[in-house]
Amino acid sequence: MRAAVISDVHANYHALEAVLGQIDGADVDAVWCLGDTVGYGPRPNDCCEVVQERAEHCLVGNHDLVVLGELTVSDFNDEAAAAALWTSQVLTPSSRAFLERLAPVAALDGVDLFHASARDPIWEYVLTEEAARATLELSDAPLVLVGHSHVALALTFDGDEVVGGLAPEGFEVELDGRWLLNPGSVGQPRDGDPRAAWLLLDLARRFAAFHRVPYSIEETQSEMRERGLPAVLAARLERGE
Ligand code: ZN
Repeated sequence: MRAAVISDVHANYHALEAVLGQIDGADVDAVWCLGDTVGYGPRPNDCCEVVQERAEHCLVGNHDLVVLGELTVSDFNDEAAAAALWTSQVLTPSSRAFLERLAPVAALDGVDLFHASARDPIWEYVLTEEAARATLELSDAPLVLVGHSHVALALTFDGDEVVGGLAPEGFEVELDGRWLLNPGSVGQPRDGDPRAAWLLLDLARRFAAFHRVPYSIEETQSEMRERGLPAVLAARLERGE
């Protein structure tokens, strides 16, 4: 069983297409998506359509939920709130119906999926050893996948200690013991590498590999300008932060 894991697409269609192009050459049986398909970016409906078509399992994230009206914009910073309001105005009924069917957690055979964390599947960033430990201890699956932070990570237990950290392009993991992996973000990476991120899992061979794909950041930025989305959101894409 080989799966491609994507997360935090954030309505960045060019990044999504680039990632799926590489996934198409990777001989996978399934695509899993950890949520935040919309928010921030300029092409929410195109991204919903493609993710719905391609992902066998898909979670809902905080940015999806605010667009659906299930969270309030006052919980978001100004730029994220402005993008969420714009998204809610342009979201088609079919995109809305797709997002409304999704949950922020899923349990597959030996793999637990959370948009954010096991402790708080919608909001908590797993960026500290303490947060990683809490999620690993609340789950009993050998492998735990989280998104939300937009930072590609690989963490595991060494005895009683949580070890690991950033997982850059080309980083590979032998999945012995228990692991917590974050594939990074397709549409708005925040780990200093602006390329779109995805994660290959080979569950038979117990192997994971982190990938980054270049895409036309300029095209997404120009679509954001055309739609009047906040300039700071467009600018951050080229810095990967
Ligand atoms: Zn996100």
